[in-house]
Amino acid sequence: MKKITILGASGSIGRSAIAFLRMHRDKFALDAVAFGSGWEAAAAIVEEFGCAAVSFADAGAAAAFRASGRGGGCDVLVGPTAAAELAARPVDTVLAAITGAAGFPSVLAAIEAGNRLALANKEALVCGGPRLLERARERGSTVVPIDSEHSAIFQCYLAGRPSEVAKILLTASGGPFRTWSKEAIRRATPAEALKHPNWSMGPKITLDSATLANKGLELIETAYYFGIDESRIEVLINTTSLLHSAVHYVDGSLIAMLGAADMRNAIGYGLTWPDRLPTGVDLIDLGRIGRLEFEYVDDERFPCLGLARRALTRGQGGTMMFNAANEVAGRLFMKGAIGFTDIATIIDKCLSTDTARFASDLEDVVAAVGAAEAHAQSVAERHIAEAA
Ligand code: MG
Repeated sequence: MKKITILGASGSIGRSAIAFLRMHRDKFALDAVAFGSGWEAAAAIVEEFGCAAVSFADAGAAAAFRASGRGGGCDVLVGPTAAAELAARPVDTVLAAITGAAGFPSVLAAIEAGNRLALANKEALVCGGPRLLERARERGSTVVPIDSEHSAIFQCYLAGRPSEVAKILLTASGGPFRTWSKEAIRRATPAEALKHPNWSMGPKITLDSATLANKGLELIETAYYFGIDESRIEVLINTTSLLHSAVHYVDGSLIAMLGAADMRNAIGYGLTWPDRLPTGVDLIDLGRIGRLEFEYVDDERFPCLGLARRALTRGQGGTMMFNAANEVAGRLFMKGAIGFTDIATIIDKCLSTDTARFASDLEDVVAAVGAAEAHAQSVAERHIAEAA
C-alpha cells in the first residue's frame, strides 16, 4: 500500500485524485488531507479513507470539525502553516494541488521531508525557480508533474534522451476567447472568462486559460522542469484539447501524448508512475474524432504568453513577478475593478520594473512573493487611477 497525502483536497484536482484513489483502495492509503475550510466535506473523506491527519487553513473549520466528534480521532492541524506541516509527514507521495503561490510553503515542506512530489501547483515552481528542483534532488525527493501538458512531455521524454530533444511542443486549448475579436476580448466579463470550452477546472486556472497566462505559467514550468531554454519551447493551440503536448527529437521524430481532456489521466499517472492503472478515462476514438486541428497563438490578442517569455529571460525574480502580477490582476478583474485586457497590461508594467530584486533563496520565497504582490498591487492601483 502506498501512502498518499493530498494538499488542496477540496479543489478540482484534489477531488479527481480522491476519485482515483477510491478506484484503487487495494493499492493506496490516503494518509492525510489538507483543506482550506469546508469541514463537513473533510469529515466525509477522513472517515471514508481512515486518514491519520487532516489540516485546515481556517481555524473556524478546524473548531467545527473537532466539535463534531467526527474523523475517528485523527490528528487535526490548523492555521496558515498547517498544510506545510501536513506535507512534511513521511508518506510515499504528496500531491500538491493548492492553487497559486499560496501553495509554495507546503511544496517546499514536502521536498525538504524527502517525500515524492506529484506537482499540480505550477505557481510554486514558477516562484521557486530551478532552486526548488535542485533542493528536491538534494533531498532525494522525486518531482513528477501533474499538469496535463507536463505529464505529457514527461511521458514523451521516455522515448529518447534529454540530449536528443530538439524542442518541446506545448499545446493550449486557446480558451473561451480564441475566436473573439480584440475589441470583444477587451469587454469580456468574469462570467464569460469562466466558461472554458474543453476543460472543467477551478476558477483561477480557468481565468488564466482565458488570458493564456496559464500557458505563460506552463511555459515557465516547462523551461524550469525540463531545463530547456524558452526559445526551444513552441506553443500551439490544439482546439480539440486531445494532444496534451509533444517532444520533437533531433532525428525529426515527433513523439506526442494524446488522450481525452480529463485531468484524471495526468493525476493517475503522477500517482502510479512508472506504472499505469485504469483512471476511469475512456480510450479516445480517433476515427470518430477525425481531426486534431492546430493553430498559432495570436500574440496581439493574447500577449500573456510573450510576457511569460520575457519574464523567463529575467530568471526567478522575473517569473515570480509574472505570477504575482497575474494573481493580483486576476483578482482585481474578478472583482470588476479592471477590464480583461488590463490583466496583461498590469503584468507588462510589473515586468518593466527591476524584477531582479524579487529573486530570493527558497527560505525567503514567501516574503519575496509578498513583496512582489505588494508591488503588483501598487502598479495596478496606479494603472486604475490613470485610466479613470
Ligand atoms: Mg495545464
